[in-house]
Amino acid sequence: GALGGPEPGPQHRIRVCVRKRPLNPREAGLQDFDVVTVPCRGVVVVHEARQRLDLSRYLESQTFRFDHAFDESAPNELVYRNTAQPLVESIFRRGMATCFAYGQTGSGKTHTMVGDLSAKGQGCPKGIYTLAAQDVFCWLQEPSYKQLELQVYGAFFEIYGGKVYDLLNWRNRLKVLEDGKQQIQVVGLQEEEVSCVEDVMKLIEMGNRCRTSGQTSANTHSSRSHAIFQIILRKRGKLHGKFSLIDLAGNERGADTGSADRRTRLEGAEINKSLLALKECIRALGRNKAHTPFRASKLTQVLRDSFIGENSCTCMIATISPGMRSCEHTLNTLRYANRVK
Ligand code: ADP
Ligand code: MG
Repeated sequence: GALGGPEPGPQHRIRVCVRKRPLNPREAGLQDFDVVTVPCRGVVVVHEARQRLDLSRYLESQTFRFDHAFDESAPNELVYRNTAQPLVESIFRRGMATCFAYGQTGSGKTHTMVGDLSAKGQGCPKGIYTLAAQDVFCWLQEPSYKQLELQVYGAFFEIYGGKVYDLLNWRNRLKVLEDGKQQIQVVGLQEEEVSCVEDVMKLIEMGNRCRTSGQTSANTHSSRSHAIFQIILRKRGKLHGKFSLIDLAGNERGADTGSADRRTRLEGAEINKSLLALKECIRALGRNKAHTPFRASKLTQVLRDSFIGENSCTCMIATISPGMRSCEHTLNTLRYANRVK
């Protein structure tokens, strides 16, 4: 609900949360400073430095309220427990669940979703992909779900410049088709059967390597593409439930539409279009509107079946940087998140 509005009821299918990351040494070195506070559960305040005509400075505060807000001390496990975890069981009950990380490049989307894969061993944070997979295998042992004899599969693909690439199959370009019954199919998408969380982690590592191989800069590429990891449950081959976990393109890339470089400009326009379509679809979903503009982008098109189901639920994690220099992007992210809830 809006500021001071009612708490969402149990039937509410969209949760919107915000996560602030710590100020990093690079920012501190540039004399940047923290302008974001999380004073209490669900509240985010941005203190914007302004200048009067006489050049004296003052702070202007803007307050936003969400289902949950995490400050820089929150580890991935805490974020997971309050965002994706409550949705995991629904896929055993034929549900479709979706969790997005939305925010500026460098604000912590990949840290939240994928975690740190490079540093092996203790102290390296697991991301929501892995934490969700862990719980899927736990629920699978629950007697009532065990008797369903479900198989678990992983799929991992990317949308870049409006095109779909399979990250588990050498960036194979995939076609998206809509049949007569308005069912969407990503044709030829590789699904790998997995039987433990280690299998899932291998897929994530493999997909991540594929995501950036041959690219000049890993971070530039990932800031311009949406990565979609799916945990799929099947019963004798037939779809039973699906959890889509999405690391979205950096939202500041939408501003690249003014760039001089033609390719960057087109990519920016594409990202802008898909993030707008996503917002419109989620808004329509929460209000049970008949017309939902899925076709407006590849991203919303491939997520169609996850959005329309009777038993579908969505969670958004808006990630924000704490620094004064990121203030405009942070406010844009918070406004977007505000419109979605
Ligand atoms: P994005 O995917 O949004 O571009 P990243 O997840 O790559 O951003 O984060 C940028 C950097 O900040 C990474 O080095 C990451 O490890 C670090 N970082 C992000 N969020 C956090 C956090 N909550 N706590 C600690 N470090 C973080
Ligand atoms: Mg990233």
